[in-house]
Amino acid sequence: MLNDYQLLRIPGPTPIPPSVQRAMTKPMIGHRDQETKDLLKQIKPKLRKLFGTKEDVAIVAGSGTAGMEAAVVNTVTPGDEVLVLVTGAFGDRFVKICEAYNLHVHRLDYPWGVALRPEEIQEYLLHHPFIKAVFATHCETSTGVLNPIQELAASIKEVTDALFIVDGVSSVGGVEVNMDDWQIDICVTGSQKALMLPPGLVFIAASKNAWNTIEHNQHPRFYLDLRKYRDNQQFDSTPFTPAISLLYGLEQSLQLLDSEGLANVWKRHQLMKQMTRAAFEAHGIPLLTNDTDASPTVTAIQPFNFHPDNVRQLVKKEFGLVLAGGQQQLKGKIFRIGHMGYCTPADILQTISCLELGLAKLGILYNVGIGVNAAQHAYLRGGSP
Ligand SMILES: *Cc1c(COP(=O)(O)O)cnc(C)c1O
Repeated sequence: MLNDYQLLRIPGPTPIPPSVQRAMTKPMIGHRDQETKDLLKQIKPKLRKLFGTKEDVAIVAGSGTAGMEAAVVNTVTPGDEVLVLVTGAFGDRFVKICEAYNLHVHRLDYPWGVALRPEEIQEYLLHHPFIKAVFATHCETSTGVLNPIQELAASIKEVTDALFIVDGVSSVGGVEVNMDDWQIDICVTGSQKALMLPPGLVFIAASKNAWNTIEHNQHPRFYLDLRKYRDNQQFDSTPFTPAISLLYGLEQSLQLLDSEGLANVWKRHQLMKQMTRAAFEAHGIPLLTNDTDASPTVTAIQPFNFHPDNVRQLVKKEFGLVLAGGQQQLKGKIFRIGHMGYCTPADILQTISCLELGLAKLGILYNVGIGVNAAQHAYLRGGSP
């Protein structure tokens, strides 16, 4: 049995709710038939709500990176100046995409584990008036930092007409995102994080302002041409064969988010963050980020007296508990717990409890239970510190 048991607590892919799993096993339907139109029609308003926008959200078959690439090829052309804000591995990926398309890339790097500073970025933009787009990561999954996107949008819009493009892959569906109010021009998210689906879909929302640029942008593109998706979406259709099984799953996962209520979903994620952090603080095991910068969807732990990969290996073998390691410069230095999507406070208690046992078995800690206890108290406080 144990071979078939898994506690998947990485920051994506995330576990799938049983009702979503069932929805995805429905028989295939014709992608040009009424059934698919009905499915897309159901999905449309719920996606708008999720992104906090009145605009339609494009659904593209591909991984999250396809959405990041779409944001680039639809808005800028080679030689254009762009600013990429790098707070970790995913900010770095935006740089690589922009470089691949021969853009003139300005990059602002922040130490991995801290959030970006909107006022510094405003200053930078004042000195570089030709920048056409600013790229940022909302939740930097590699460090567990949630960047202050609302404040950043406000500072950017105060000084420039540049488009503001946000990677919301590990935030949308777990954290509030309000595109229209906050003035985000493009926001991208993927299916395999807080949306509780398998990998394979990416969602791209664009503001009126962004559509204006997309419409006239000369950069060549075909599969990722957002105009095709928008034009078809008016008729509840897609330009190419959609990933129909994933759409069935999406309809159900959006239904689950809707019935819980988005505000409650965000609260649940906030609570899971506080519980997780409280457990490690109780043990004196350092966290990579401070309370203010920490994301409600993923927590990075940076131990000083044990190798994170040893405990990851042990809890996987003993309990089927799967945790993520560090990426790039944080490889071997941290481990990460994903708590987004199909995850509840009950899962956090289980994760912490298994981790404590793993650390005890490795001879690293003796007080098993004080982490669980701290998480329980954080729960009883309703997530307030
Ligand atoms: C997971 C993730 C992505 C997308 O990665 P893919 O492997 O292409 O799906 C992009 N940005 C962030 C912040 C992510 O967490």
